[in-house]
Amino acid sequence: MKARTLKKDKVNIITLGCSKNMVDSEVLSGQLLANEIEVVHENGKLDHNIVVVNTCGFIDKAKEESINTILDQVALKKKGKLDKVFVTGCLSHRYRDDLEKEIPEVDAWFGTMELPLILKELEADYKAELLGERLLATPKHYAYLKISEGCNRTCSFCAIPLMRGGHVSRPIEELVKEAESLVKKGVKEIMLIAQELTYYGLDLYKKRQLGELLYRLSDVEGLEWIRLHYAYPSKFPIEVLDAMRDRKNICNYLDMPLQHASNNMLKAMKRQITREEMEDLIADIREKIPGICLRTTLIAGFPGETREDVEELKDFLRRMRFDRVGIFTYSHEENTTAHDLEDDVPAEVKEARAQEIMEVQQEISLEKNQEKIGQVFKVLIDKKEAGRYLGRTEFDSVEVDNEVVINTSKKLPIGEFVQVKITKAFDYDLEGDVIDQ
Ligand code: SF4
Repeated sequence: MKARTLKKDKVNIITLGCSKNMVDSEVLSGQLLANEIEVVHENGKLDHNIVVVNTCGFIDKAKEESINTILDQVALKKKGKLDKVFVTGCLSHRYRDDLEKEIPEVDAWFGTMELPLILKELEADYKAELLGERLLATPKHYAYLKISEGCNRTCSFCAIPLMRGGHVSRPIEELVKEAESLVKKGVKEIMLIAQELTYYGLDLYKKRQLGELLYRLSDVEGLEWIRLHYAYPSKFPIEVLDAMRDRKNICNYLDMPLQHASNNMLKAMKRQITREEMEDLIADIREKIPGICLRTTLIAGFPGETREDVEELKDFLRRMRFDRVGIFTYSHEENTTAHDLEDDVPAEVKEARAQEIMEVQQEISLEKNQEKIGQVFKVLIDKKEAGRYLGRTEFDSVEVDNEVVINTSKKLPIGEFVQVKITKAFDYDLEGDVIDQ
């Protein structure tokens, strides 16, 4: 790479989208570092001369954010503040041909599976022996662990398999090694991620192996919390919860995106499960792990969604009383099977329905938080902000869930655990005092 800005070569990686993308950026930076190339994540200082934008192509809003970010970087290049702008990730994978024509100022575009090619462009060698080694973009006490890539499901709304391909599990031994190496770097909590967690092992071992993986990971010394994200509900392997019940370091937490509750919608979404089956599954999970924190994600405004479907979903939420809920408005994605349907719910109606559904959850969340007043929780301290410490219980994941605001006059160590007695509850957060241990 020849620097024209007179800056020394330094790569800044900007990551958009989800935690899976974040892991890809961390792997890329680990490789660059091993090639002795200076690399940073989300550098605010502009003392770098090369940018890699790792894009998201999941839904309209994410695509827009990715394109705006690319345009911002291209503008910096035009002003002479950058030498090179490269783009990778899902958006680039999905729309490379169009984007190349639209934004010719970008130096090169890459797909989601082209790490060696990006490295080559950055004059670095791909080092296969570095498997799993990465430069964390998260605070050093937690990290994501991607256990597989891609997805074999056929949900009608989802464009992810178009960008990430079919399901490919990573071997258990490799994941255990990676977890050990993360713990050595100071990681206390790992969040298991995949497009679809419960499929883990079916491709590689010809049987579901998430349970076995959990037992093996929970044996890693020094790993205090293991958290499960993105479990598909149809044919959910309930025996996975044995590991959660048996091992203290597997959080009583499950993130299971359900998308909807009306049978009409579930069928149109090709979710391979009915509302009644989901209700039975939730009852079984709660029976097996009493007090488990259940998180789900929903879609508002899927084609054909009626007022009755929305009411059915709200009623389901009131009865199921999830601990955490996230919601997206439906995005009409080309080349998905839902794209053949008419996107007949107007954008403002989608937004209004999403808000209406979240209002139901807001009440439930507040009630559940109020029940925690007076209880003591083990809290992992994430950061200090505006003079107050913010942490999480085992029932809260990073960024998407509640935070615990900690009142104390003492200095608390970031990345360590403290015991906190809850004194106040809000819609989505808790407040409490540190108690002597
Ligand atoms: S498209 Fe999906 S996998 Fe890709 S970044 Fe967005 S959310 Fe992540």
